[in-house]
Amino acid sequence: MSEKNQKLECEKCKKEFLVIEQESNFYKRKGLPLPSICSECRRERRNNLRNKKQLFERTCDKCGTNLKSTYKKNSKFTVYCEKCYFDYMGGSETL
Ligand SMILES: [Zn+2]
Ligand SMILES: [Zn+2]
Repeated sequence: MSEKNQKLECEKCKKEFLVIEQESNFYKRKGLPLPSICSECRRERRNNLRNKKQLFERTCDKCGTNLKSTYKKNSKFTVYCEKCYFDYMGGSETL
């Protein structure tokens, strides 16, 4: 094993993980600190972040169809279902 590879302890799962030379060079070039968690935990964290983008049950403001939206029920944003949205877009074109 090359000495240039660094062994770090993952902050999350406490497992040792390796930061290879290219990787540490990459972080250095970018002026970033070395990762404090292993690649597995990083991937998991990314997945969790994606899942946080929650979808709420809403109804189309035009036809009342149930749909899922990133906007909450009580948010001020007008939410259209796909059909109404296309109607709306198409409609504005013919005006
Ligand atoms: Zn980990
Ligand atoms: Zn609709």
